[in-house]
Amino acid sequence: MNSTVVVCGAGVGGLAAAHALGSLGLQVLVFEKQSRVPRVPKGEVLQPGALKILDTWGVTKFLEHRGAVRLSALVACGDSGKGRMSLDYTQLPDTTNWLLSADHESILTALVDSLPDNVSLYRGVTVRGTLHDDATRVAGLVVREAGSEREVPASLVIAADGVSSRLRRAAGIGADRKDYSHRLVALDIPDVPTAEKAVTAHVTDRGLRMRYPLPGDRIRLYVQAEPNELRGIDHDAMQRWGDALIAELPELAAFEDQLRSSLDDRQMLPVARFVADGLSAPGIALVGEAAHSVHPMAAQGMNSAIYDAHALGTCLAERALPLRAPDVDTALREYQERRLPELIQIGKISHNASRMLTDLSWVGRTVGRRALRNTGANQRLSFTVMHNLAGLGLHPLSPLDRLHQLGLLPDPRARRRPRWA
Ligand SMILES: Cc1cc2nc3c(=O)[nH]c(=O)nc-3n(C[C@H](O)[C@H](O)[C@H](O)COP(=O)(O)OP(=O)(O)OC[C@H]3O[C@@H](n4cnc5c(N)ncnc54)[C@H](O)[C@@H]3O)c2cc1C
Repeated sequence: MNSTVVVCGAGVGGLAAAHALGSLGLQVLVFEKQSRVPRVPKGEVLQPGALKILDTWGVTKFLEHRGAVRLSALVACGDSGKGRMSLDYTQLPDTTNWLLSADHESILTALVDSLPDNVSLYRGVTVRGTLHDDATRVAGLVVREAGSEREVPASLVIAADGVSSRLRRAAGIGADRKDYSHRLVALDIPDVPTAEKAVTAHVTDRGLRMRYPLPGDRIRLYVQAEPNELRGIDHDAMQRWGDALIAELPELAAFEDQLRSSLDDRQMLPVARFVADGLSAPGIALVGEAAHSVHPMAAQGMNSAIYDAHALGTCLAERALPLRAPDVDTALREYQERRLPELIQIGKISHNASRMLTDLSWVGRTVGRRALRNTGANQRLSFTVMHNLAGLGLHPLSPLDRLHQLGLLPDPRARRRPRWA
């Protein structure tokens, strides 16, 4: 059996997998249907846990060299600053205690530029399906390039083809996708030098408004919106939409002109959540959004894709080369056993956090504001939430913690860090 690994998709998931498996000395071929690195307003905030992994692959130095911005806090506040929760990353007991913000395009480019020599990336090549060496085991890919198809046999196939993954379906792995009822409008606001090095989420009666600095004195602003809110809207109506946004959140008036100039280039993005029923089948592993999707506000999706790739690499590192099919499949089962429960937890954490900030019902808003206020005022809970989001280990909140969050039970340990910290 040859020791070639083939990866479908050169998003963060596929490129991270190429790094993780390429660094084991495997021959890795990555196929990407798009001929260029895309410019998309998604996946821009990296967490400390992912940064530590990227550092071992030599990626972070490329990012920082290109102006990626270090951020030190995640801040969420209710109307008029009430119910403020500030997660100060400098308090993390880790040498990498910051977040990094960079354009998604820069993150992809940095991942490509630091790939090891034994990884080859082919752009403009579409994966059409999988090869099988018997009725069930995946043994390679069928790819289409410049109008002709060819077969690429491999000892392992990585499905990193994103949320609508063709390969996940081909492997017979189910996924129960749930769409959130709102969308996110993404604005890229230029010329705003800011000393504020934080991701700041404002919860208003019309939903979440989240912003953070990007390289080049820009600000990313996400605005929660109804699916049809901007459909067919012309320039003037868009400016009035901007007026309403600034009236609702006076902080934005500080860069009103720049915000107005960005409105015509806004993008509207759907948000969904799911965790696939499994992460592997014989001969194939799923990484990134092929396997899971979460609400973006907790900045977990791209980071989780990096943890997936790292976990898969760790499981395969224990197998001798050249890879044998039974060894590969044992490693894939280990990957699934190790990673699936973590992804289910990350899915819950992200969903709870996003509900706290985006639920527009009266009950949802009341509960969300309370949870925000009580978590922010409780050192033990806020440290636990920050540690979980940072990707430095998972310590899920217990049902008792939920009662403390909602203020239904006083917490005698509220002024201390958690015992495990
Ligand atoms: C608004 C928004 C903001 C976000 N912000 C953050 C954040 O700050 N931090 C964070 O951690 N996450 C964030 N996320 C999530 C993050 O962007 C995604 O989880 C991550 O980019 C998924 O990467 P991926 O490689 O799995 O999938 P994708 O980025 O979708 O990549 C899949 C790739 O596969 C290719 N492909 C698909 N089919 C084929 C085929 N048949 N043949 C060849 N190639 C194929 C596609 O062209 C694509 O390049 C955000 C998401 C959104 C929507």
